[in-house]
Amino acid sequence: EAKETPGSGFRFFDAALAADVKERTAIEHDLARAIKADEFFLEYQPIVGVESRTVRSFEALLRWRHPEKGRIMPDLFIPVAEKTGLILPLGKWVVRAACLEAAKWPGPAGVAVNVVGDQFKDRDFVDYVKQCLAEAGLAPGRLTIEVTESVFSVDETVIRESLGDLRSHGVRVALDDFGIGFSSINNLRAFPIDQLKIDRSFARAMMESQRDADLVDIILKLGQTFQVTTTVEGIECESQLDFIRRRGASEAQGYLISAPVAASEVGRFLSPEENRLSA
Ligand code: C2E
Ligand code: MG
Ligand code: MG
Ligand code: MG
Repeated sequence: EAKETPGSGFRFFDAALAADVKERTAIEHDLARAIKADEFFLEYQPIVGVESRTVRSFEALLRWRHPEKGRIMPDLFIPVAEKTGLILPLGKWVVRAACLEAAKWPGPAGVAVNVVGDQFKDRDFVDYVKQCLAEAGLAPGRLTIEVTESVFSVDETVIRESLGDLRSHGVRVALDDFGIGFSSINNLRAFPIDQLKIDRSFARAMMESQRDADLVDIILKLGQTFQVTTTVEGIECESQLDFIRRRGASEAQGYLISAPVAASEVGRFLSPEENRLSA
């Protein structure tokens, strides 16, 4: 709709910015209400073993079913939830809902939830996670907590203690979106983790440039050095899956296997007949 009118570039820019701020404020106001109104739900995206092609776990991804605006994706409201502190109740809801859901699945498939740094500032969070596992009757080893490298900007002691506490309880810790944040090999030395999830931007880039292919190689080697599971996100075609198999990645996640699905659809990935990705 923004037609090119000479000299009016700034005005269009301002209008877009104002709309953005207005939208943010609206979301902020709505979020608190939505938590009380129980408007959130989780979708689950399968993660498969690269060799076996069988489903090992599901990542729980948050969605907001807004009464007027319809479905809102997390990239739009998680940053607002973080800014307002509403990520604390919302994040707790996610952990509990995912644990209760996974406990219903037949078989040992795991479930992964995304957690941001601020949630660890709430010193009760780790206990809350343990409590959810106990309530659900879910073995701690079936839960993975995904954090991005931005958690390392939270007080180091807090993060070290929280992640350490979770891991000694048996919960797995994954470093999400690896390769695009403040990647530092030292983070891997200082904070023991169980899994590296390579950011989905690499899945595309590695097919297009030798440099990115080499980078993926290096990150996979890094994962092997630290003896962690390596998962490549954003696998959308067979050639990408093939590529990472040849380079020794452990797991794949992406639209090739499946987009995130409703909780009610998870079962079809777990029934013995259909849990192999048809090639
Ligand atoms: P993420 O943790 O990296 O999750 C993976 C995202 O990649 C998901 O987007 C998923 O739908 C998308 N994806 C999966 N496979 C493919 C693929 O093959 N191609 C492409 N292009 N995309 C793919 P989604 O669900 O929109 O979530 C976006 C981000 O929002 C997540 O990135 C995560 O950082 C955040 N998020 C989602 N749920 C939660 C939550 O409960 N708590 C927190 N703190 N953050 C969440
Ligand atoms: Mg994630
Ligand atoms: Mg990710
Ligand atoms: Mg992400």
